[in-house]
Amino acid sequence: MLNIILFGPPGAGKGTQSQQLKEKYNLTYLSTGDILREEMAAETEIGRKVKDIISKGGLVSDEIVVSIIRGRVEANQKSAGFLFDGFPRTVRQAEMLDGIMKEFSLKINRVLSLEVPEEILINRMIERGKTSGRADDNIDSIKHRFVEYDEKTKPVLAYYEKQGNLKGINGVGQIQDIFAALCAEIDKIQ
Ligand code: AMP
Repeated sequence: MLNIILFGPPGAGKGTQSQQLKEKYNLTYLSTGDILREEMAAETEIGRKVKDIISKGGLVSDEIVVSIIRGRVEANQKSAGFLFDGFPRTVRQAEMLDGIMKEFSLKINRVLSLEVPEEILINRMIERGKTSGRADDNIDSIKHRFVEYDEKTKPVLAYYEKQGNLKGINGVGQIQDIFAALCAEIDKIQ
């Protein structure tokens, strides 16, 4: 099994790259952001719980996202592998993911971190907000998402660095070049 975490700040291109990566490597794609948006659209109990937090750009509780991920991993054990996008976003989530991996005798093979300077990210997200229809692609929520990223998500990098699993990838440039750089790293794994 090939289990990859695509890491990076909001707007780094994780979603775009994931679409191609999941196709090429036949991976089960787990984007907690997408799953939470589906829950909101379907007005489930979880959807109602997270709606306000997400629209303001805050992080949803670790318990909610981890239980979603655990359920998806359990349900897809025969998969060729998992591609995690937007998860883990806190050190506690990373620790709990290690627990889940252990439980199912799996491991994270690599954490690929898309590196993009913050000025570029904010402009990209404002542009995206014009067409995405996402309640959190407005300037106040975007700013708050970066505060959350800096305070709670960045420390996840050190967690994986310590495990020797982290690889930084330049996330500025043509989509296909960035995809090629990601694939080159993944192809080193097997
Ligand atoms: P994304 O689509 O990954 O940018 O996520 C959109 C929003 O969903 C985030 O700003 C958070 O409010 C919430 N979210 C997504 N993934 C997580 C996570 N792993 N932990 C906490 N909140 C999350």
